[in-house]
Amino acid sequence: MTIEDGRIVEVGPATDGELLPDRALAPGFVNDHSHAFQRGLRGAVERMDPSRPHDDFWTWRERMYALADSLTPDSIREVSRRCYEEMLSAGYTSVTEFHYVHHRPDGTPYRDPNALAKAVALAAEDAGIRLLMLPVAYARGGLPRFRDTSVREFLRRVDNLREWSAGRPPIQVGVAAHSVRAVPRGWLEEIGGYARREEVPLHIHADEQRRETEECLSEHGVRPVELLAQTGFLGPNTTVVHATHADARELDLLAEHGATVCACPTTEGNLGDGFLPAEGILVRGIRLSVGSDSHVRIDPFEELREIETNARRLSGRRNVLLVEGGVSPTPYLLRAGWGRAGIEPGDPADLVEIGLSHPALADVEAENLPSALVFGSGSVVVVGTWAEMLKC
Ligand SMILES: [Zn+2]
Repeated sequence: MTIEDGRIVEVGPATDGELLPDRALAPGFVNDHSHAFQRGLRGAVERMDPSRPHDDFWTWRERMYALADSLTPDSIREVSRRCYEEMLSAGYTSVTEFHYVHHRPDGTPYRDPNALAKAVALAAEDAGIRLLMLPVAYARGGLPRFRDTSVREFLRRVDNLREWSAGRPPIQVGVAAHSVRAVPRGWLEEIGGYARREEVPLHIHADEQRRETEECLSEHGVRPVELLAQTGFLGPNTTVVHATHADARELDLLAEHGATVCACPTTEGNLGDGFLPAEGILVRGIRLSVGSDSHVRIDPFEELREIETNARRLSGRRNVLLVEGGVSPTPYLLRAGWGRAGIEPGDPADLVEIGLSHPALADVEAENLPSALVFGSGSVVVVGTWAEMLKC
């Protein structure tokens, strides 16, 4: 492999250069959904409060809010840096940060209204991971520090952050709305229009919990993804995070608009959300990505394995997620994890080194290595990560 200015320019038989014995190289994994600060909840939320024996997503959310309320620009940078360093060690070379903690705890803006977003972006720079930063619009519910008083004010902040990041190539800025719970119809229209005009990535949580879908039906008379379609929020730059309870009509809409679904199986399992409708996503040709979301676990191999394993549990079959003519789910899963098919000239040189002498991979034939990685190993086999930042 020949690399120039952070890009792969050639892949082929080696003539000179450095040999990497007992190593395989793979593309770096893309972590397409992260709330870095929630890494601070790890281990602390795995016991219930005896006074509230019904523990679920909504009680977990109260614990998460308490942590969010305590953050300062320094502490969010610190927890984010740790989180991103762990991601790099696990094989992720880029991360999409869904960032909704914006203001002081009482809701007044910091002197620099983007202080917290910049603190998280600088944590990514500190760690050396590529970042897609998504400032997230929040209009109602949640904590005062999540909310903006108008969509105009929110989008002005997004513009300012984009200007700030322009000279920092590892940092890209898109835009997001938190959910149909937290954002009204008019905001969805404005934010969707902004993303189309500016041609930036656009993300939103949808259909994660049944209660959210029911509330959307009673407020708007339609399901969450239907509301996104009505408001012009869906398009080829749109990623819908979770889609756990999306029905057939909603999946059809995602396919028609060329949107992506980001699955976060370890978090969705931990929070009792439900199962990704993976077969429905596959047969419709909807693009799929993965994220570690709450960071209960940071391991791209585990996210991919869970997608197929859950599809097996739901269907009672094996090797379920096969693309047309395929015999193994591995290529489909790895494409979801890498955001591309493999190592090709022109791609950024974001790579992971796999240690072939690790006990988990001993005696695995070369042709079986990709499936052994997904089904029989974990982030422990990652012995190095190359995140080559583009110079242009
Ligand atoms: Zn999330």
